[in-house]
Amino acid sequence: MEAKSAGSKVSAAEPKKSSRGLPSVEAITAGVLKGDRTLLAKAITLIESNSPRHFEAGQELVRRLLPASGDSIRVGVTGVPGAGKSTFIESFGLWLIDRGHKVAVLAVDPSSSLSRGSILGDKTRMEELARHQSSFIRPSPSGGALGGVTRKTRETTIACEAAGYDIILIETVGVGQSEITVRSMVDFFLLMQIAGAGDELQGIKKGIMELADLVVVNKADGGNVQAAELAGRELNNALHYLRHATPGWTTKALTCSAKEKAGLPEIWREIERFVDQGKTSGVFEDRRQNQVLQWFEALLTEAVLNRFYSNPRVTEELPRLRAAVQNGSLPVLLAVQQLLAE
Ligand code: GDP
Repeated sequence: MEAKSAGSKVSAAEPKKSSRGLPSVEAITAGVLKGDRTLLAKAITLIESNSPRHFEAGQELVRRLLPASGDSIRVGVTGVPGAGKSTFIESFGLWLIDRGHKVAVLAVDPSSSLSRGSILGDKTRMEELARHQSSFIRPSPSGGALGGVTRKTRETTIACEAAGYDIILIETVGVGQSEITVRSMVDFFLLMQIAGAGDELQGIKKGIMELADLVVVNKADGGNVQAAELAGRELNNALHYLRHATPGWTTKALTCSAKEKAGLPEIWREIERFVDQGKTSGVFEDRRQNQVLQWFEALLTEAVLNRFYSNPRVTEELPRLRAAVQNGSLPVLLAVQQLLAE
């Protein structure tokens, strides 16, 4: 939807096609670096592809784009369904674009292949933002498991940054692991709440508050202003006793109305202050380095496990060793060592 509905210009010279139907990696790289949204969309198609024949080209593309990436603020946005995340992202995105930013909106929703896109799937959402030349919106990659969605979202972030998007908003729904995953790929994590929906429902007890760098009580408009302000004060009290997500940073609660576009400058000021402070203290860069290192370790562990369990000697020996351990004829550690020796 990003490229078509936006009416972005197609490059004057039709890019050279590779044998795979997509433009060549060189052509995609050059297009992305120029900020061409059609080629950015193609880059992401390659990154998101589950087809083995796209894998090498996708990784080569990421390798080429990597040096041009990183110069952005990555902001995660979470909250229960109905809290107003997409309304907020549309208002905030347009507000940022008005101030000269380029905004990319991505989503992490591992359930999307089952629920047919519970977030960002519905094309009527964020319509005005989607039409804007300075925005790029990409729904959650389908691909089932969180691991696959994580890799794709991280690499898509790299491509968007290389294309000049300096604000990356990553939306996720408030369901368990996906919030922790998004926290591990963003600089700043915003938790959206609403007044009167019950703490438990909104994740206060799930420890989500301890992941947040800012809590925003949305829908502070009409007859709901007082309730929202009260909720904001209560949250500020509660936050006082919680562990903060980022060293040296005190997580606060603010109110806003995504619908009436109120409270947006205060939210942005908080994000800017966070970035300034983190860059001065080194916390910002440390977090990014740790994030990429953790990602590397996680992928390495996954790859080693996959390789191990797909080894035919292992698959052959495993049932025998399991049985031997079960009936007590072989000590567990010895069984493990025998298998590793294979
Ligand atoms: P999401 O599921 O968190 O993405 O929530 P949506 O953005 O889809 O919003 C859910 C509902 O709340 C929609 O009917 C919105 O129009 C409404 N909504 C969102 N933001 C506000 C707001 O600031 N004020 C009011 N009154 N309604 C809002």
